[in-house]
Amino acid sequence: MADEPLEPWQQLCELATREQDPDRLMELIRAITRLLDEKGACRNCESDNCQIFNGENAIHFPGLDGLHESIVWVFPKLLVCLNCGFTEFTVPARELSVLIDGKPVAGAIVLDRCA
Ligand SMILES: [Zn+2]
Repeated sequence: MADEPLEPWQQLCELATREQDPDRLMELIRAITRLLDEKGACRNCESDNCQIFNGENAIHFPGLDGLHESIVWVFPKLLVCLNCGFTEFTVPARELSVLIDGKPVAGAIVLDRCA
């Protein structure tokens, strides 16, 4: 096992452990993430045992103040790692604008608690 050549993402990980420049470290992390994405591997455990599911998520603003803010529903595809449970999804642009501005927009499913 020690004789197996390192994959490119593993080589970048080794470089990242020694990198002192924060900007160069971020470049390495982005490159590692891109390589793992292309490989279809889990970003948490590198397993390729991942599967896409349909999701239904209600996104709440954090903290006690969040109880008085809007709740935003999204129905994304979820990429679930069946090895460690790490899950990824993308918030659609319309719903993302609600999270950024805190204001409901046409077409987004939002429970507006500010009204
Ligand atoms: Zn995983």
